[in-house]
Amino acid sequence: MTANIVVLGPPGVGKGTYSGFLAKKYGIPNISVGDLFRNAIKNQTDLGKRIKSYVSSGDLVPDQIVIELVKSRLEEADCKNGFLLDGYPRTVPQAEAMMQFKKIDVALNFVAPDEVIMERIGGRRTCSKCGAIYHIKNVPPTIDGICDRCTGRLVQRSDEKPEVIKNRLNVYSEKTKPVVDYLRKKGLVADIDANYPIEEIDKIIAQCEKYLSKLS
Ligand SMILES: [Zn+2]
Repeated sequence: MTANIVVLGPPGVGKGTYSGFLAKKYGIPNISVGDLFRNAIKNQTDLGKRIKSYVSSGDLVPDQIVIELVKSRLEEADCKNGFLLDGYPRTVPQAEAMMQFKKIDVALNFVAPDEVIMERIGGRRTCSKCGAIYHIKNVPPTIDGICDRCTGRLVQRSDEKPEVIKNRLNVYSEKTKPVVDYLRKKGLVADIDANYPIEEIDKIIAQCEKYLSKLS
């Protein structure tokens, strides 16, 4: 069987965790487009140089470049039996292109209410000294605002402030909705209810497996 899986879902929904788990279980590579960008830039490949020029001026990397990068990665030998792909397709042209060069078996669409994601990310506190991560509700420090490990001060990262998260969620749903609709029309979308606390990850994985077990 092959398991060509694309992963959809807003920032903070836990995609990275679920993907890592599934990739290990099915013995397929877990590919993040963000990592592909970073590696291409680091290795100064032709594509990497072009990507860098867009990223450093704050522009979106054009579809054609993203498509080329992902296509060549998916042609590597380790993707023979499948892959998990996170961060692609982000636009309808990217999705259309993929249908030409690679079969998509299923798009796992992780969903959770905005308020839940806001609380998950908005409750995070990071130690300003050692980088340890806490959560005001789920993993609180012993003394409010102070790191258990090094007594450093706990701070909220600027990109984890409620108004910033809200904006990221809005941008995501606006941008990605057409892609989800496109894939849904093709019958490829599997909605996964990710509204569970992280210690109940098995409930999320079980839903994924229900879909993955039908692949042939
Ligand atoms: Zn600390």
